[in-house]
Amino acid sequence: MKNYIVHDAWHIIEMGFDPALNRVSESIFSIGNGRMGQRANFEEQYTGDTLQGSYIAGVYYPDKTRVGWWKNGYPEYFAKVLNAANWIGIDVAVDGVPLDLHTMQVSHFKRVLHMKEGYLLRQFTARFPDGKEVEVEAIRFCSLVDDECGVIRYRITAKNFSGTVAMTPYIDGGVRNADSNYDELFWEPVAKRGSEHRALLTMRTKKTDFWVTTGMHYELTHDGGNLTPREVAIEREDYMARSVTVEILEGETVEVRKYAVNLSSENHPKPEMADRAGQLLDRVVGKGFDCLLTEQADAWGLKWAESDVSIEGDVAAQQAIRFNIFQLHQTYTGEDDRLNIGPKGFTGEKYGGSTYWDTEAYCLPFYLATAPPRVARNLLVYRYKHLPKAIANAEKLGFGAGAALYPMVTINGEECHNEWEITFEEIHRNGAIAFAIYNYIRYTGDTSYLAQYGLEVLIGIARFWAQRVNWSEVRQRYVMLGVTGPNEYENNVNNNWYTNTIASWCLEYTISALGEVRESNAERYAAIVAKTALQTSETDRWAMIRSQLYYPVDEARGIFLQQDGFLDKALVPATDIPDEQRPLNQHWSWDRILRSCYIKQADVLQGLYLLEDRFDVETIRRNYDFYEPLTVHESSLSPCVHAILAARLGDEARAYQFYLRTARLDLDDYNNDTEDGLHITSMAGTWMSVVEGFAGMRVRDGRLHFNPMVPGKWTSYTFRVRFRGALLTVHITPKAVTFSNDGEQPASITVFGEHLAVDKKATVATPNYEKA
Ligand code: BGC
Repeated sequence: MKNYIVHDAWHIIEMGFDPALNRVSESIFSIGNGRMGQRANFEEQYTGDTLQGSYIAGVYYPDKTRVGWWKNGYPEYFAKVLNAANWIGIDVAVDGVPLDLHTMQVSHFKRVLHMKEGYLLRQFTARFPDGKEVEVEAIRFCSLVDDECGVIRYRITAKNFSGTVAMTPYIDGGVRNADSNYDELFWEPVAKRGSEHRALLTMRTKKTDFWVTTGMHYELTHDGGNLTPREVAIEREDYMARSVTVEILEGETVEVRKYAVNLSSENHPKPEMADRAGQLLDRVVGKGFDCLLTEQADAWGLKWAESDVSIEGDVAAQQAIRFNIFQLHQTYTGEDDRLNIGPKGFTGEKYGGSTYWDTEAYCLPFYLATAPPRVARNLLVYRYKHLPKAIANAEKLGFGAGAALYPMVTINGEECHNEWEITFEEIHRNGAIAFAIYNYIRYTGDTSYLAQYGLEVLIGIARFWAQRVNWSEVRQRYVMLGVTGPNEYENNVNNNWYTNTIASWCLEYTISALGEVRESNAERYAAIVAKTALQTSETDRWAMIRSQLYYPVDEARGIFLQQDGFLDKALVPATDIPDEQRPLNQHWSWDRILRSCYIKQADVLQGLYLLEDRFDVETIRRNYDFYEPLTVHESSLSPCVHAILAARLGDEARAYQFYLRTARLDLDDYNNDTEDGLHITSMAGTWMSVVEGFAGMRVRDGRLHFNPMVPGKWTSYTFRVRFRGALLTVHITPKAVTFSNDGEQPASITVFGEHLAVDKKATVATPNYEKA
């Protein structure tokens, strides 16, 4: 765990340059706009340790799979989001010596992420070996308004000398992925186009043939006045630079404004990409840096107006929740149903930028509540479009008759994961995808989604479960063998309670969804039945499996068993593990982990969280008390579920402890892995910990329910949620809750069981509910 980020409500601040922390900071200070993202690499050359990362949404490469022991059914490739052309580069040299923080004395270093306005600032003073000192200030952002555009303003001031400063803004397409399996170059150049102050470089991905045109246009100012010194063009096959040298006097400043664009063939016809990149550059250069920055702040203002969470009395918690919300918005805007949310977003290569069950199980609630319904809908439509590939994936594993198994890891719908225990066994992902359909409809009331898209997905998933179980003569029950539950520290187990439970729920929901569509839209129902060749005998069988499915339980303890045989393990609380052996996955052999009782992430508790209404509080408490001490939370997705359940059980102290762990996971580098990128999907879990945990928000019967508490040292907190046309500001103090509705529709709300109606444009407070 680290503790170097300065606590502040609206800013993420790093004071002083520590090269050992550089990769961590490169992740934390990442910027993005849903269309592209950029790690906080330096503009000028840096020969020290760094992970270069510039990512374009939807552009991937099928990197050839590397496995030790090939198993039939493995995918041939792992689709990964690519480190794309470097658009931020501006090399700087003073009297011929390159500016490079690795080789010089650095002072007054400061990096600040301005979350309210959406930009990154970096300042420092560097002392060259010959004693010359420069002061630098760099600001950059990925525009939310022109989402194919990134902008940089780079200022350098001669502190104690007069001499020459050479500035060389460039685009470099000769970049690599650090995680390339065979050290392949994924890109090759297609075309270049250059003119004064401008360069356009088009690169294509090998195999997938995505084209990306990266363009730049720069402007130069010397001590406030525009400059047009002689420019030298430097060009190689995959590199274009424009270099200018300026004579400056002591105290003077040179400023470069670099406008960059990234256009992808996903959004533009290939033959027109360079022209369009040029036109976009004309447009953004025409607006100018100041205007673009103002637009950026305004666009972020709108995002914050819909999704801010403010916490009074606890600046560390405040900073953390804003950071999480900021990064989520930077990752996914919901504008494009071909895009999804990778666990690291645009902040690193790990997890390949691909989609996991994280989206449905963790991210969806955030986007449901903080963005217009089409944003969450697009996340669902993404899976609908992948249904044929999920069916093909199931066929590859030996299933048939329209059974669908969604991939564990994907970009284009095809499975990319290749560890048998996950690829073939971690099938609970299907359940999260079905649950997301239910969750979306429950939240938005948009029942039309079922007929339009949802039902076909549910049928495919139900068919999969029906084929995946088998009848056990011994138990006289259906069982599900050879699975991995959410807890990946157990593999190839039988009857994982969570998997059986979510499978059964899927069968039940599909049956009821069929009934709903048959009633509400007979024509569409008939079309779906015809398209899927659905037989009544199938649904009968689903109902039978549901009623005769086996669930492991321990009657004596009154708990659900994570899987068959779990109680055979030596049950030793995780608090007994010496600190120096944590995290287990970095210290113990896999064999030892598998035999231990330690749980990587919420598993039974994940089921109790999702299906909470089916269990009484005492059942939740018994299971929580049993499993929580055995859970090591070595997945970032774990603490948030524990925080929500702890809050549900009224255990404020533990809920708060888990909240901090999930909220500051990356800012404080809890798991010692932030250098790989941020844990974007668990950031949505942070939001859930506040809204579903402390505020106890649930949707039942078309109403928003709250059972709030005010944790830790917070004096009050406020958040915004959309709900069925209402836009609510919810302000919670230890005494009362106040709701203000800025939306177009009234909202039906229940607080501690008492009903309230909050009309549009109205503010309503609960009676004082402070305990005596
Ligand atoms: C977790 C999975 C998760 C994946 C990506 C793994 O460590 O165990 O549940 O889907 O990370 O976030």
